[in-house]
Amino acid sequence: MADYDYDLFVIGGGSGGVRAARVAAGEAGAKVALAEDDRYGGTCVIRGCVPKKLMVFASEFAHMPATAAQYGWDMPEGTFDWTAFRGRLNGELDRLEGIYKRLLDNAGVERFDARATIKDAHTIALSTGEEKTAKTILVATGGSPVRPDMPNAELAIVSDDIFHLDALPKSILIVGGGFIACEFACIMHGLGVEVTQYYRGEQILRGFDDEARNLVADQMRERGINLLVGTNIAEMSAATDDTSTGAPVRVTSTSGETQVFDKVLFATGRAPATSNMGLEEAGVALGRGREIVVNEYSRTDVDSIYAIGDVTNRINLTPVAIREGMAFVETVFHDNPTPVDHDLVPSAVFTQPELGTVGLSEEQAAAQEPIEVYATTFRPMKTSFADRPDKVLMKLVVSKATRKVLGCHIVAPDAGEMIQLAGVAIKMGATKEDFDRTVAVHPTMSEEIVTMRTPVRST
Ligand code: NDP
Repeated sequence: MADYDYDLFVIGGGSGGVRAARVAAGEAGAKVALAEDDRYGGTCVIRGCVPKKLMVFASEFAHMPATAAQYGWDMPEGTFDWTAFRGRLNGELDRLEGIYKRLLDNAGVERFDARATIKDAHTIALSTGEEKTAKTILVATGGSPVRPDMPNAELAIVSDDIFHLDALPKSILIVGGGFIACEFACIMHGLGVEVTQYYRGEQILRGFDDEARNLVADQMRERGINLLVGTNIAEMSAATDDTSTGAPVRVTSTSGETQVFDKVLFATGRAPATSNMGLEEAGVALGRGREIVVNEYSRTDVDSIYAIGDVTNRINLTPVAIREGMAFVETVFHDNPTPVDHDLVPSAVFTQPELGTVGLSEEQAAAQEPIEVYATTFRPMKTSFADRPDKVLMKLVVSKATRKVLGCHIVAPDAGEMIQLAGVAIKMGATKEDFDRTVAVHPTMSEEIVTMRTPVRST
């Protein structure tokens, strides 16, 4: 048998790669190395979920003095200090990166702070000039934001740049209608920036339940975001002599309006990081979006090369990448072939209000079988008392044949927290009657999920 330097070489130190490396080394006792050419923690920790969520928290304080006043408090309006926040944010990211490095070190994983490419089925070339061999290679390189292919696109920033802004812009145009566009529209608005959002389709958050995304869009507009659907950029050019990325931009929209924005953010999707990696040369097949094609065990066309996380473009969420990493270790190092379960994955869009979802949308379920829909929209007690126009939605999509809850959709503050728990019940196969048998927690918003008695629609 060939003698390799390592049992496993992981390329990429994000959530998926780090988890697979440390579990393979720590629990399975494998000899493991990992290469990362940027910061440890990857998209989630350094330029995604974590800093984004901290920005969500920062932005949510905006309305609090006005709401508190309705509850009898005398609170000054105050102002937001971006520089102070950014300093604390960077400190937190440094702390988390340190934890990621220590987790690897403590598990006995050898770290290479270098770019790694694949030379052949068992050989990795490092940017330091070294070459290493491994019995198994795991590619976990993630993805990166893409700009549309149009003149002057480089004037716009992408989500990676947001966390490094020197100052908050006065105005921003956000292009896109997905997770990132909608989340940053709400964050920027909360931080006091004038936000315009262009989405080319009919309604933002394509693929989510129609009723839920309609309510999110209404609430975003209600809060003051200038959300324009059926609209895209027709032309963009530098508004001043400054032509660097992030400089003010003059934009003409497809509906013919011209406006200058301090910043334009392209939140127009992400692409798998597969370029110049030696993948195709080594025999690894890439799909149409240049994602690595894998089977249910995350194995590529080359027996010794596996891939997990966003680079495979299955479900691009951190907890899914972590699951894929764990299943990979179980399959390869515990001789226990474990497919990744991608069914009924709960997720949340951290807009204001949040959208939490698990399972099928009403539209997907109705296309599959006869259904009943239970839904209620109402003004939540906390903000209704403060005369704010907030509305929330609780919704269950139920199979007529099996009575199983096929989908749950919640638009509400903290919907992300609620959907995690609804996700357990639905993953267990709960029926509508199981929800009905559960006593409400009163007074809460989520009690409505167990008190809806009559379907609002039936197909
Ligand atoms: P998405 O794919 O979700 O959204 C991209 C958006 O850009 C879509 O609205 C798309 O429109 C639009 N778009 C694409 N190309 C163009 C173009 N040329 N011109 C105008 N608009 C365009 O990508 P995101 O970048 O928002 O997020 C990537 C992934 O990251 C998500 O799918 C999700 O898996 C993950 N993520 C998860 C988060 C969470 O869990 N809270 C938060 C952030 C990201 P159309 O609908 O017409 O295709």
